Amino acid sequence: MDFQLPQEITTKLAELDAFIEAEIAPLQREHMQFFDHRREYARTDWENDGRPQPAWRALIEEMERRADKAGHLRLGLPKTCGGQAASNLMIAAIREHLAGKGLGLHNDLQDESSIVGNFPIIPVLDAYGTPEQKLYIEGMISGKRHLSFALTEPGHGSDATWLETTGRRDGDGWVIDGMKRWNSQVARAHGNLVFARTSGKPGDGRGITAFIVPTDAPGHKILYNHWTFNMPSDHAEVELKGVRVPDSAILHKEGEGLMVAQRFVHENRIRQAAASAGAARYCIAQAAKYARSRIAFGEPLSKKQAIQFPLVELYAECEMVRNFIFKTAWQMDRQDALEISDMVSICNFRANRLACDAADRAMQVHGGIGYSRALPFEHIYRHHRRYRITEGSEEVQMRRVAQYLFGFSGKRATV
Ligand SMILES: Cc1cc2nc3c(=O)[nH]c(=O)nc-3n(C[C@H](O)[C@H](O)[C@H](O)COP(=O)(O)OP(=O)(O)OC[C@H]3O[C@@H](n4cnc5c(N)ncnc54)[C@H](O)[C@@H]3O)c2cc1C
Repeated sequence: MDFQLPQEITTKLAELDAFIEAEIAPLQREHMQFFDHRREYARTDWENDGRPQPAWRALIEEMERRADKAGHLRLGLPKTCGGQAASNLMIAAIREHLAGKGLGLHNDLQDESSIVGNFPIIPVLDAYGTPEQKLYIEGMISGKRHLSFALTEPGHGSDATWLETTGRRDGDGWVIDGMKRWNSQVARAHGNLVFARTSGKPGDGRGITAFIVPTDAPGHKILYNHWTFNMPSDHAEVELKGVRVPDSAILHKEGEGLMVAQRFVHENRIRQAAASAGAARYCIAQAAKYARSRIAFGEPLSKKQAIQFPLVELYAECEMVRNFIFKTAWQMDRQDALEISDMVSICNFRANRLACDAADRAMQVHGGIGYSRALPFEHIYRHHRRYRITEGSEEVQMRRVAQYLFGFSGKRATV
């Protein structure tokens, strides 16, 4: 066993640090209103249903342009998309490292954009897309032709196989009817990847088809935006009423849409876990540093066991979770991720919970100033709280682990 990160990864981390220092930190300093205590206010277009301010989006796009020029943005993408097909381990190490630096333009939380891009749909388009559908690949990277993802509905989230949106054959095309909820970034998208039942019955995994629906198609309508714990919000409620699309709108195969969604679920979950582990490490380190310097009752706070022990618990958990994430990412580079789905889920729910606990503890150790927006912990807490719900909620991850532990749903029993 060798527990060192490979040298190509540590070299890459150093390269990214130098790039941030040279190209991103100065840009951030010029726009501090998006990062200091004014961040939610400056980023949010309050009169436009709480969506991101155009100036905030423009800054993110500039960050991504610089990162792409420097050869970092596409690191995790397939080589056919101009990427470098970086391993799961490398991407996990990078996510952990970038989040470990705290808030910044290099790795924005609210928008989930980063100098090393996270584009989950692109490998799917690359693998299954028609030449026309593949136009979204460059479009998503440049931000000029975005494709949003519409699986969740008002009535169904975790139980996506029960979704109620339908696709009905009509002549040589399809008519789609239904509702979508939490349809992130659809307001700036040119296409919406809509999942609709075209055959089978509620609860069947098969029979759901993924359609790329132009957002300006008649009957495709954004109703309103959901305002969230962390603002701005770009998560809309969408109505699809008699939306007509041709057969060529299908991504991959009729009835095999959920397979498209499943394809990137493991990569997404391990990356999210790595980001949470990095954020937790940052919060713990900042809290320990502050406890050493803050004098209360005539001595440093760090001398008090009531301050030490909760941080020790978090530190211990963070070390274990971080190492387990790296081990699982390393395994994903060697075997089908589906075989170790339970391990990926363990990483995900433990790391996301840890990030929230660590941010909460950092606020506590910092006292009143920890609650203020001058410090980043409230923002980190609010963002990572979302991860306990969105990429398959905590309960859904535990359900997956239980399937393997007890041998349910055709899964091998782990013990
Ligand atoms: C900020 C944000 C962005 C999002 N972006 C997108 C997007 O771009 N596209 C998209 O399609 N969706 C998106 N989502 C939706 C997200 O995927 C769902 O919210 C998530 O899958 C949970 O579904 P739900 O909200 O319907 O909760 P439900 O499925 O109704 O669950 C409610 C609660 O019950 C628990 N629960 C459910 N089933 C079980 C079970 N079997 N056992 C025990 N507990 C259970 C859940 O864990 C949860 O705590 C986003 C959500 C948010 C908040």
